[in-house]
Amino acid sequence: MARRRQLYEGKAKILFEGPEPGTLVQYFKDDATAFNAQKKGVITGKGVLNNRISEYLMLRLEEIGVPTHFIRRLNMREQLVREVEIIPIEMVVRNIAAGSLSTRLGIPEGQRLPRSIIEYYYKNDQLGDPMVAEEHITAFGWASTQDLDDMVALALRVNDFLSGLFLGVGILLVDFKLEFGRLWENDEMRIVLADEISPDNCRLWDAKTGEKMDKDRFRRDLGRVEEGYQEVARRLGILPEAGLRDMKGPEAMQ
Ligand code: UDP
Repeated sequence: MARRRQLYEGKAKILFEGPEPGTLVQYFKDDATAFNAQKKGVITGKGVLNNRISEYLMLRLEEIGVPTHFIRRLNMREQLVREVEIIPIEMVVRNIAAGSLSTRLGIPEGQRLPRSIIEYYYKNDQLGDPMVAEEHITAFGWASTQDLDDMVALALRVNDFLSGLFLGVGILLVDFKLEFGRLWENDEMRIVLADEISPDNCRLWDAKTGEKMDKDRFRRDLGRVEEGYQEVARRLGILPEAGLRDMKGPEAMQ
């Protein structure tokens, strides 16, 4: 395949020009970073697994009517997506206290939150993605009130759906980060889910043992990082014994 023009290289992905106007190719790397890129490493096979996991979750979300940028997976490490205008807000949805929420507010990690909590962070590497309020987002024009309403409605649907999907395979969806983009079709604009949904941006704990199966294994030097990602894919039924080629449905947990 002819090498495509690279448009952007991020910490875990590279974006290339797509084969048709309005499309991009999203390439998943094995590189991992944490703590605003102060910690760097490689998680062998992560890119292949995240490509698969994100494809699977985006397709399931499309099935329930959540619009996403995903078009189709191209190969082991690449997927074709719609080109969108990324809204510079990272939206974090939390169900159980962990990570920065626990550190900042002193809520013990693992405590179920009274209700799902949504937080906003301004996407800016130089500033270390600071947390912002709705006021900052609308005042500085990063997103309109209408955009935010749409984003929150989508995030809550994603949370309900993915919480159930993961629980069905014995995994707690503790928290996760979403990004959204604006997609224009003729003169109509709609907000769609962009980026990826994978153990890089979700906290996933085994429902029985509490074992972490996500990027915290890397962040906190817990070891067996690859195995965590693989176990998520295996439980979702997208990592059959035969290898990464075949697909089967998710495996129900008792
Ligand atoms: N997260 C992310 N990208 C970021 C920051 C957070 O994907 O730049 C995800 C992270 O994986 C977790 C959730 O958002 O699932 C909440 O992260 P938190 O605010 O606790 O930050 P952290 O502990 O990762 O610093």
